[in-house]
Amino acid sequence: MMRVSQLHFGNKMSDTIFHKIIDRRIPADIVYEDEHLIAFRDIAPQAPVHVLFVPKITIPTLNDVQPGQAGIVGRLAIAAANYAKAQGFAEDGYRIVMNCNDHGGQTVFQIHLHLLAGAPLGRFG
Ligand code: 5GP
Repeated sequence: MMRVSQLHFGNKMSDTIFHKIIDRRIPADIVYEDEHLIAFRDIAPQAPVHVLFVPKITIPTLNDVQPGQAGIVGRLAIAAANYAKAQGFAEDGYRIVMNCNDHGGQTVFQIHLHLLAGAPLGRFG
């Protein structure tokens, strides 16, 4: 059986809406960028602060991260923490989320980390 990630590659889903944002083919409210990743506000925020951290290398889902790519996942988390510190809500706290495939609710098949903050988010887990 074909894996979901293979399906997405087969359907050229290595060109997602997030790739278009990285390449400036569509606009976004970009709040941070470096050579490895970009961060921009979610178009449909689920909290007062809702920023997406997206690597510049193509990785459709968390299932596709190779051992040699472990660093990029860490970079996403550190960039989110640095943003929280810079914006002054690190001490109040925040939540980071990565959705994977159908049951995780993933809708864009380029990995991304959601940073949610700005109010008590309620208990999760
Ligand atoms: P997922 O459901 O895959 O974990 O998260 C995808 C997120 O991307 C959703 O929260 C959705 O609101 C956001 N999103 C989808 N399309 C766009 C877009 O064109 N621009 C921005 N800024 N966010 C988007």
